[in-house]
Amino acid sequence: MSDCLFCRIMRGEVPSKKIYEDEHTFAIEDINPQGPTHVLVIPKKHIAGLKEATAEDTELIGRCHLTAARIAKERSIEDGYRTVLNVGPRAGQSVFHLHVHLIGGRTLHWPPG
Ligand code: 5GP
Ligand code: ZN
Repeated sequence: MSDCLFCRIMRGEVPSKKIYEDEHTFAIEDINPQGPTHVLVIPKKHIAGLKEATAEDTELIGRCHLTAARIAKERSIEDGYRTVLNVGPRAGQSVFHLHVHLIGGRTLHWPPG
């Protein structure tokens, strides 16, 4: 989508710190990190969010989580990290291109705020 922030980042029109890329997904450092590790794993396909995803996106959503797990292992934060999808504005979703937050490197409390 032409005016979507993450599509623009994917095309290199908006700068980002890209830390991973494969055929289906890429990952960038969050601009406003909520922990020592805060990475966004983003499918290259534009999907507005989890509630807009369809059965054909099943594998892609799984890939995003496995990419997050791989980055967590590389960063040695496997003692505790969280993968999060914020769904809808009331849950804090502000960018309407599906993305998995990978947050770790610190103690994470439950329930989240
Ligand atoms: P959401 O609030 O939609 O779940 O997550 C959007 C995330 O994107 C937020 O954590 C926010 O800090 C991050 N973000 C917003 N604009 C940019 C940007 O221009 N570059 C990067 N790297 N992250 C961004
Ligand atoms: Zn997009």
